[in-house]
Amino acid sequence: MPLVHMKDMLGHAYRHAYAVGAFGVVTLDFLEAIIKAAENYRAPVILNLAESHFDYYDFDLLAPAAVAAARRARVPVAIHLDHGRSLESAERAIRCGFSGVMVDCSDQPFEDNLRLTREVATLAHASGVAVEAELGYVPGGEGENAENLSHEFEYTSHSEARVFVARTGVDCLAVSIGTVHGRMKGAPRLDYARLAKINEAVGIPLVIHGGSGLSDEQFRKLIANGVAKINYYTALSDLAVQHIRDNPGIGDNGYMALKRSIREAVRAEVERCIRLWGSGGRAAEVLEQCRPLNDGKASPDIRAIG
Ligand SMILES: [Zn+2]
Repeated sequence: MPLVHMKDMLGHAYRHAYAVGAFGVVTLDFLEAIIKAAENYRAPVILNLAESHFDYYDFDLLAPAAVAAARRARVPVAIHLDHGRSLESAERAIRCGFSGVMVDCSDQPFEDNLRLTREVATLAHASGVAVEAELGYVPGGEGENAENLSHEFEYTSHSEARVFVARTGVDCLAVSIGTVHGRMKGAPRLDYARLAKINEAVGIPLVIHGGSGLSDEQFRKLIANGVAKINYYTALSDLAVQHIRDNPGIGDNGYMALKRSIREAVRAEVERCIRLWGSGGRAAEVLEQCRPLNDGKASPDIRAIG
């Protein structure tokens, strides 16, 4: 199964009012579990590799594994660089065969964010790779406690979003409407009216970061207002850790038993998300309607990036 254009994949989700899960990959066990869940439910899926995690695994080993897993999968898969911090990061991911890159300068002034995002978009689009940017600021870090926030929320404004999307040409936009990265005490309060205005202003798939900890009802309302990609990592990480704590005996059967049981815990949660977000059963339509990434015309063109 080929890697598909992430723009096409998200366009399909946006038009049909469901969301594709972008699940954080940090080990081979997470990778296998996510692909297995997507195959079990015939769902398109996005593998998210976050730059903030590159200190914890070897990107040059895990990224090719993600590409190999995507090519072998029986469902359409996109591979995405999450929170890329520079043009160089985007270039590295594109060279590896990723189908999407996020450039995150949302902590910088509007004009600076716009300029770097446009540079990344020019580079990525030349290789048929989709671009996500963030406007407004979603605080916190993946897998961390959101009580220790070092930055305040900065909510996305619909009028700025309109200008930003028009001037950068991004394919999807991460918005700040009340979610945080990491785990939070209590359910966050989400600003749906703001989200609806942004959706109307930009008309492209919207992305939610900090999907962990939201209720089923909150997810439904987000999707009804244009969210077509949901980033999900902290809950998977917490489940894996909790699973080990709850089953102190699994280690007795060796490391392999521990790995297997983590894969099962992650797979079950990814499947729950797929059912809830409506991406299950969509694989065939997505494949039919989305260009494969390696279709010649749109294959990552290494020459284009030097
Ligand atoms: Zn994020």
